[in-house]
Amino acid sequence: MSLIEEERLRLIVVNSAKNIYQKGLVQAGEGNISLRLENKNEMLITPTFNTYEELEKADIVRMKLNGTLISSSRKPSSEYRLHSDVYRARPRVKAVIHTHSPYATIMSAARIKIPVLIEEQVIFLGGFVNVSEFASAHTHEFSENVIKALGSRNGILMANHGCIVCGRSMKHAIKMAELVEKLAMIHYGATQMGGTVSISEKSCPMFIDDFEENFATHTNKAPACEEK
Ligand SMILES: [Zn+2]
Repeated sequence: MSLIEEERLRLIVVNSAKNIYQKGLVQAGEGNISLRLENKNEMLITPTFNTYEELEKADIVRMKLNGTLISSSRKPSSEYRLHSDVYRARPRVKAVIHTHSPYATIMSAARIKIPVLIEEQVIFLGGFVNVSEFASAHTHEFSENVIKALGSRNGILMANHGCIVCGRSMKHAIKMAELVEKLAMIHYGATQMGGTVSISEKSCPMFIDDFEENFATHTNKAPACEEK
C-alpha cells in the first residue's frame, strides 16, 4: 500500500469518527471505529482516549489483526480485539463501529432485543437486533459472544455495554450505527405508548434479498430475518 493510499484511508477513519461524534453516537473517550486494510490482515483504528474533535490522521493506529502495532504515535483503542476478532470471523467486513450511543445502551442494559419494526431494518441490518451474552470487555469471550450474537446480521446490542455494527464499507457501517440507535429509540418510545408491533416475516423476502445482495457481510448460507 502506498503512502498516499494509507493517508487517504486514515482520512476516511478520521472523518468518519468525527461524523459519528457530531451525530451524538459517541462521546469523547468512548466508542471506536476501524477500517480493514486491503491485504485483509491489518486495520486502521481510532486511538485510546480518543477526543474526536481533535483527532488527526497521525493519531490513527495501523495494526495487524493479531495485535501487532505497525505505525502510530498513539496506543490503539483498548477494544481493538473486538474489531480484529470480527474481521477475522467475517472476511467480508470492511468497517466496524462500536458505540455506547444512549438508546442502544439503554436497550443493552435492559437486555431487550429489538424486533423487526421497520423495513429499513431488514434491508440494512438483516432483521431483528440481537443482544449478546454478557462478558467482560477486552476478553476473548467478549468477542466470541458478539460474533455469535451477530449471526448473519450487521449489528447487535452488547449486554450492559452498547452496540457494534459492521459493513461492507465505512459508509455502510455509519448507516448501521445510526440505524441501531434510531431503532432503539423507536422501541423505547413505542414501549412507553403501549408496546411495539413487529413486522411479520412474511413481508420480508424482498427486503432480505436487498440485504443479501447489497449489505450482508456474513458467510452463512441461511439468510436472516426475524428471530426463529
Ligand atoms: Zn465499549
